[in-house]
Order: sequence, then C-alpha cells, then structure tokens
Amino acid sequence: MLAFDDLGIRFGGNQAVQGVSGSIQPGIITAIIGPNGAGKSTFFNLLSGFYKPTSGRISFENRDITGLPTHEVVALGIARTFQTTTIYKELSALDNAVLGHRVRTRSGLWDALLATGRERRETQASLEAAHTALARVGLAGQAQVLAGNLTQEAQKRVSIALALATGPKVLLLDEPAAGINPEETVNLTRTIRELAAGGLTVVLIEHKMSMVMRLADQIMVLHHGQKIAEGSPAQVSRDPAVVEAYLGGHAAPHVREELKADLEQEAARLGEGHA
Ligand code: ADP
Ligand code: MG
Repeated sequence: MLAFDDLGIRFGGNQAVQGVSGSIQPGIITAIIGPNGAGKSTFFNLLSGFYKPTSGRISFENRDITGLPTHEVVALGIARTFQTTTIYKELSALDNAVLGHRVRTRSGLWDALLATGRERRETQASLEAAHTALARVGLAGQAQVLAGNLTQEAQKRVSIALALATGPKVLLLDEPAAGINPEETVNLTRTIRELAAGGLTVVLIEHKMSMVMRLADQIMVLHHGQKIAEGSPAQVSRDPAVVEAYLGGHAAPHVREELKADLEQEAARLGEGHA
C-alpha cells in the first residue's frame, strides 16, 4: 500500500534516516519503535511530505509520491498526527475536525463570501465528516467544548479526529500515548484498535511498549536512522539486535525497563503457548 525504497534524509552532517526500504501492509497496525533520536518522527515527516527525502522513493497505491507537498499527500489519503499535540486550542473540538475535512474541499474565499451552493454543500459535508470523526474517537459528547479545555488525553483524541476528518486510508500516529496516564493509555489503545478494525491502516510510533505489544501486527525497528529489524511482536522482541539497541544504553531508563518487562511477558506468553 505504502512502500519506500532506500529512503533517506540528511540534515547537514546528520543522516537522520538512511537506506530504509520496506512497505506498510493495508488493514493492519504497524508499529515503528526505536530509541530516542532513531529517526522515527523524521520517517513520518518523509512519508507525509513534510520533509523531502535526500535519497530514495516513496509510493502509495503504486503511485510515486516522492517529494509531493503535504496537502497533496493528505488528499491522496495519508494523514498524520504529531508527537506534540497540534490542535487549535481556541476552537471547539468540532471546529478542529472541520478544519481537517476542509483540506478535501474546493471552495475558496469567494464561495464563502457569496455563500455559493458549493460552499453550503461543502460546509455541510465538513460538519458531517467532523461529527463522524469525533464519534470515531469517542468525543461525540464533547463536540462543542473548546479543545484547550479538554483533558490531555481528549486533546490527543481531537488531533486524531482532525486527521480522520481528512478521510485517510493510512493514519500515521506519532506517540499518541505520550503524556497520558496508564488508564487513559488503555482507553486510547482500544480506540486505535477499533479504528483499525474499521478498515483503517494504522502506523504507530510509540514508546509505551505495553501499547505496542497489544496493538501491533507488525513492528519495524529503527536505530540510528536505519531499519535494524522487522516482524511480528514476538519475532522482534526476541531479536538480539533490537534487545541490544534498547538495552545497550541508548534508550531512556523508563523505556529500557518497559521493554524488558514486555520482553519477559512476551517470553512467558510464548512459553505458555508451547506448554
Ligand atoms: P525519534 O522520533 O526517533 O526520536 P527524530 O526523527 O525526531 O527521532 O530525530 C532523528 C534525528 O534527526 C535526530 O538526530 C534529530 O536531531 C534529527 N532531526 C530531525 N529533524 C531535524 C531537522 N529538521 N533538522 C535537523 N535535524 C533534525
Ligand atoms: Mg519522535
């Protein structure tokens, strides 16, 4: 569905992403993990058109999208959220989602000023898309609340709704569970699972390994900008290169501890399966 070949980007002397090849399969959840600074967010910036690669190609549904500007990438059906929640806090949750849908609409300033038929139809379509997007992330009851007055977790959901309102086929989520508590993380995990069950292709960058292990069908591991492993959660969590990347001192202590706990849990689960 979404394929990349020898993808790379260099910032001055820093090769942030290097020689990454692979693909995202439709209808599943792919997680991208790796220590801080591994190049995960940069990889998303490449896929979504925020950065132009200095090497390699990206294709989406067999069409070359390398170097396309962000709004064209979004229009084709690739939406993303950002690591730091980027929503309009002074707007309602609903209006945030409306803005997401507006990237799809064609009417301009004159249509708005003259209240043309197209403008009215598109406004109606945007409102419907926005309500649907909010419902998909469990915020139907908070549509009119100013986004800035919502909890941190609900603000994350608004940013997902904004992305959903663009009508994506692929949703890229950059650390959606950063800064929210364990109970909220479980709830958000359920929401992401439901989105995928509804047919959306999800790519998730996440540090919280409990979430990754619960959600991911496929995991790709980046380290120093390169892909060092990929496979099922069970395969990846046993991969010596992955364990070394995390336990070798590059990762933050809490990440190391979480991964260690999850690796042990995964090993125990596999053990039960064999017993
Ligand atoms: P991760 O998301 O895996 O923690 P990032 O993709 O944010 O890592 O960063 C990977 C590397 O790319 C880091 O060394 C970072 O400093 C560098 N980098 C990312 N964006 C830029 C940029 N716009 N300019 C210069 N360096 C950047
Ligand atoms: Mg990042």
